[in-house]
Amino acid sequence: MIGKVDHIGIAVSNLDESVKFYSEILGLALHGTEVVEEQKVKVAFLPVGDTEVELLEATSPESPIAKFIEAKGQGVQHIAFRVENIEAALEEMKAKGIRLIDEKPRYGAGGARIAFLHPKSTNGVLIELCERK
Ligand code: ZN
Repeated sequence: MIGKVDHIGIAVSNLDESVKFYSEILGLALHGTEVVEEQKVKVAFLPVGDTEVELLEATSPESPIAKFIEAKGQGVQHIAFRVENIEAALEEMKAKGIRLIDEKPRYGAGGARIAFLHPKSTNGVLIELCERK
């Protein structure tokens, strides 16, 4: 079911500062940014090999990213796995007794269709399933 690690989602409090680190220090190329209103985040995309680092900055205190940073500080927030068919993947997870945050796929940065699995069902890791056409 899982194809590869699609991206690693990292919660940051200052996007420009973090982009600087990944581009100027680590040498990754910034491939653009996007504001995802629904999630109240601004996302920066930095491809690395056949996966990607996604830096996420909250655009509102209600953002899940703001809440994450408040509780845990900056850092890795989720791991996204690429799947071929997200509906089928969600059905499979449900059938295996995994608690879902998203019963149905929703819009994700970069035009992906995404859904999160609940960390209580995954030994503490927020896992995102991600389908891209
Ligand atoms: Zn993600």
